[in-house]
Amino acid sequence: MTQQTITIIPGDGIGPSIIDSCIKVLDKAGCDFNYEFSDAGLTAFKKSGDLVPEETLTLIEKNKICLKGPLTTPVGEGFTSINVTLRKKFQLYANLRPVTSFKGTRARYDNIDILTIRENTEGMYSGLGQTVSADGETAEAMSLITREGAERIVEFAYQTAIKEGRKKVTAVHKANILKSTSGLFLKVAREVASRYPEIESTEMIVDNCCMQLVMNPEQFDVIVTTNLFGDILSDLCAGLVGGLGMAPGANIGKDCAIFEAVHGSAPDIAGKNLANPTSVILAAIQMLEYMGMDDKATLIRDAIADVIETGDRTTRDLGGEHGTTDFTEALLERL
Ligand code: NAD
Repeated sequence: MTQQTITIIPGDGIGPSIIDSCIKVLDKAGCDFNYEFSDAGLTAFKKSGDLVPEETLTLIEKNKICLKGPLTTPVGEGFTSINVTLRKKFQLYANLRPVTSFKGTRARYDNIDILTIRENTEGMYSGLGQTVSADGETAEAMSLITREGAERIVEFAYQTAIKEGRKKVTAVHKANILKSTSGLFLKVAREVASRYPEIESTEMIVDNCCMQLVMNPEQFDVIVTTNLFGDILSDLCAGLVGGLGMAPGANIGKDCAIFEAVHGSAPDIAGKNLANPTSVILAAIQMLEYMGMDDKATLIRDAIADVIETGDRTTRDLGGEHGTTDFTEALLERL
């Protein structure tokens, strides 16, 4: 078998340290990958004046699989989000954000297993928006929903539910107010649902969904929704299982896939050896499953579960007193 090459983007802030931890874990688990490193975000901008250099795009296209640290998008006019750029460029239309309870976290719940599937290229993140008055005091943004995009993501959600042995898909929308955009998404979601009688299909308005997720999260299995709602709901879901240190995400397209943590570059803790690397390691587990390496995925997941359950050298967000490097050591010992 040829050795798989993976593009690594260490990213900004806590990115390089959690990616370093993740690579050590993959290597110790015997994954035998070849890595090619590339820059994006502030790190790239400082080196080349470009937030997403052409070499990085070429490398992602060549290797097809990329593991990426969080990127800082400079705030201000003229800077398009780098993540949005990558998702659009490689048509990474499906964003899978699973959250699972691990024993030993400080989460309020202990039986969560929710997969949010977020449409990743349309909706409010279409990039279409501008100021519309000469004084710059009035602005508008366009939400774009297409039948093709909605059908593709809802189909993907049902197919994933079947593949993962899940029982229920909830379409989350705001069709009561956003009649054209969310209305179209809901209409298509209902059509797709009718093709899958073996899966229980429900629908929920997004504001109610937020409340239900806090009050009674056990009712959810797969959530499928549009871009902005999925972004917000998945952070809420991260909070159900112990915070952003526990939430991975996979961006899947037809030809390429990019795996990353849900969280950002955490400038408040960057360079302090405080970051919990679990999210990006869970993203690497999603990558292994995507590649059909389920045995390695299980091996690493079991190591994470044991470290957290026993509280052996866990990070502060998990209730421990240790840093990224100690936590990584605890994982490596179990592999
Ligand atoms: P953030 O996710 O970086 O941080 C939010 C809070 O969670 C902070 O208190 C942080 O310390 C904590 N946190 C995040 N990850 C953690 C971890 N692994 N371990 C322990 N604590 C963790 O959100 P923000 O501060 O709003 O954004 C910072 C930057 O990240 C911004 O420039 C934003 O654009 C960018 N961002 C990037 C991505 C991405 O690349 N996928 C995602 C979200 C935000």
